[in-house]
Formats: sequence, structure tokens, C-alpha cells
Amino acid sequence: IEEFLMCANEILGGSPARIVLVVGGPGSGKGLLSKRLEEECSVVHLSSGDLLRDEVRKGTPLGQEVAQIMQRGELVSSAIIVTLIRRRMRDHPGKRVLLDGFPRSLENAHDLMEICGKPELALHLSCDDTILMERILRRGKEGNRADDNVETALLRLRTYHKYHHTQMEWLREQGVPVVNLDCSGSPENVWHQLLAIGRLMRPAAQHSRSKDDLFSAAEDDDASGDRPMIL
Ligand code: ADP
Repeated sequence: IEEFLMCANEILGGSPARIVLVVGGPGSGKGLLSKRLEEECSVVHLSSGDLLRDEVRKGTPLGQEVAQIMQRGELVSSAIIVTLIRRRMRDHPGKRVLLDGFPRSLENAHDLMEICGKPELALHLSCDDTILMERILRRGKEGNRADDNVETALLRLRTYHKYHHTQMEWLREQGVPVVNLDCSGSPENVWHQLLAIGRLMRPAAQHSRSKDDLFSAAEDDDASGDRPMIL
């Protein structure tokens, strides 16, 4: 693992993208919402959980190490998850990236700032734990995820609550805009909440985009050259 982290640090450099965070408890629908945004709004979706599950599935040394931690519903080390995320982000320079499940701890959050700067937005999915629990157990019956069982789900919820408050505080301190979405209904319902905000904001967004265009045209005229890819 140490070797993996060291090599990765040497190989990975630079930072790619504009970041939108998708925050919410286990079973809140972060993945579903992110996938739909990816399909309909051509953003890139990176899920820290999926990246870890990929490693587990492939049976890499890293995967073997994190499988037990995930089964206990605990957080894997920030260094590992950050490395996996950076590795993927490098493939999408200049794209808007949705981060699902990251940051999850203050350490994650500091690492994120270091790699990508301040996120432009956070989508916060919230509802009661009982609903989350029901969903996880229903998904567990489909048998796709080893951590969708009662014991692990309870531990995941506990871990989530342990870090969630700090995470939201951090977003507030950083001045990251947070959009709260009620995820107790269907995925379709969550989607419509976002669409409603989009409809309301369209004229304002268009107005500010045309101002941005003017600004970037002026920048293009400027012969100063290299513009950073970040944000
Ligand atoms: P969920 O949010 O439904 O619990 P995820 O797929 O996001 O599911 O995460 C599954 C597991 O992967 C977590 O319980 C945790 O062990 C690990 N994990 C995911 N993201 C992180 C992260 N940012 N930092 C540390 N561990 C993580």
C-alpha cells in the first residue's frame, strides 16, 4: 500500500476540474442522482465507493485491505481514497466532476481543497434514517453489495452521523453553496426538485453566463497565454 501511494504521488500531478459534491447518508440515492446528472447534463460522475468496490472486485492488494474496512462500515484511509480519486480525475481535465461520497471526513475535505480548490456546489440529500435503512435492506436483497446487510448498514449510518455535522460545517465555513434536497421520495421526485430550481434560475443563469462570455472573450484577447485548467 505504501508503495502504491508513493508511486501514485509521483505520477499524479496537476488538478483537473470543477467540482460538485453530492452529500448524503448511505442509501440516500447519491449514486442514482449522480448517474442521471451524468446522463443528462454531461458531467463526470466519480463515486468513492465505486472506486473502492472496483479494487475489491479486481482483488488488488489495496482491494483486499479495504474490503474488511468497508465490511465494518468504517472509513478507509484518506490517503487511499484521495489517490484513487486523483487517478480518475486526471482523465477528465476541464470537465465538471460530481464527487459522490467524498469528502466524508475533515481529512478528506482538506485533501480535496489541496487537489481541486473550493467546490462550486454541494447537493445535499437528506431524509430519516429509517427510510435509509429500509432502502439499504431492500437493495441488500438484490445481492449486489456486501455491505448492504443490517449489521453493516447500522455501522455505516453511525459513521455517517459521526462525520456529517463536521462536513456540513466545513462546507459552510468555506462558503460552498449547499442545495438541500429531500430524498425521502422517489428518485424521480428528487430529480424534479432539481429541475424546479433549474427552471427558476434559468434566466439568471443565462444572464450571468453571457457576462462570463464577455469576460472570457476579453481574456482570449489577452495575449498572456497559458490559463490554468483548474476551476
Ligand atoms: P454508502 O454511502 O451507501 O455507504 P458508498 O458506496 O459511498 O456507500 O461507500 C461504501 C463504503 O466505502 C463506505 O462505507 C466506506 O467504508 C468506504 N468509503 C467510501 N467513500 C469513502 C471516503 N471518502 N473515505 C473513506 N471511506 C470511504
